[in-house]
Amino acid sequence: MKTTIVTGGAGFIGSNLCRRLHEEGDHVICIDNLSSGSEKNVRDLQGSSRFKLIVHDVTDPIDLKADRIYHLACPASPVYYQKDPIATSKTLFMGSLNMLEVAKANRARILLASTSEIYGEPLIHPQIEEYRGNVEPNGIRSCYDEGKRMAESLFFDYHRIHGIEIRVVRIFNTYGPGMLPNDGRVVSNFIVQALQEKDLTIYGDGSQTRSLCFVDDTVEALIRMMEAPDITGPVNIGNDHELSVKEIAEHIIKLTGSSSRMIALPLPEDDPTRRRPDITKARKILGWEPSVSVDEGLSKTIDYFRELVL
Ligand code: UDP
Repeated sequence: MKTTIVTGGAGFIGSNLCRRLHEEGDHVICIDNLSSGSEKNVRDLQGSSRFKLIVHDVTDPIDLKADRIYHLACPASPVYYQKDPIATSKTLFMGSLNMLEVAKANRARILLASTSEIYGEPLIHPQIEEYRGNVEPNGIRSCYDEGKRMAESLFFDYHRIHGIEIRVVRIFNTYGPGMLPNDGRVVSNFIVQALQEKDLTIYGDGSQTRSLCFVDDTVEALIRMMEAPDITGPVNIGNDHELSVKEIAEHIIKLTGSSSRMIALPLPEDDPTRRRPDITKARKILGWEPSVSVDEGLSKTIDYFRELVL
């Protein structure tokens, strides 16, 4: 039986990952400081002898035995990671360092959940892994963007210097059950607004694009990446079906049958204009591609939020 640590395991992607690993028979140790994650997300796993939640901040060192480490810990929604940007930078650097030390002590394989934010305001489209990005080094997104870049750098140095088996994935926008209703993200905001018959808040003119990947697809890709032999990455993980923010709103209004309208609000600073992953590498190396359509994934997410907020 494998012992697998998931940091940020009580968060949105983390809790879905913990559930899936537990189903596969792993002994799962979930580490979370519950800053943006919630114990509720993993409550269904709590009775199992193969699941343990450790409430711990990864900025502090920890000593554990493990075969695999998925390192996801960090608030990921702009609203959350900008609330305490210094804590975000600290989490990304100290957290990565501490978990790499756990990997080193155990000779464990460790996966970093990096991000499409590595590419900043991209000047090439779609984004390939070789693209070095166009990141504002001192803007309001920098704590997250530069923090994740630092984390990637640290992972590769541990690989080069200490021979640690690393896996680096760059996750693009992911959505699905387990998201927080007040996460501030486009999908959660729009669904909650539509269900409550409130106006959908379009930032800017809504022409900026994102590519939405359903969480089950993302989790499948993370596991395939972890188990793939002889590869470090980085590998983009996301859906390559690109939608404007306005189109996302239209899908959600249609699927909820809401009479909500759209209102325009100012575009946040440094908000990337276009984002779509090139997933040629994931297709080739992992034999993976997204399998859940936007309407199918949004419908499942709408059902989840309906239970939660109505
Ligand atoms: N957005 C929006 N209305 C909202 C929330 C987000 O128009 O209520 C836009 C936001 O400006 C961005 C996109 O949706 O262009 C995705 O934002 P999100 O916060 O989900 O994540 P990001 O991809 O920017 O990290």
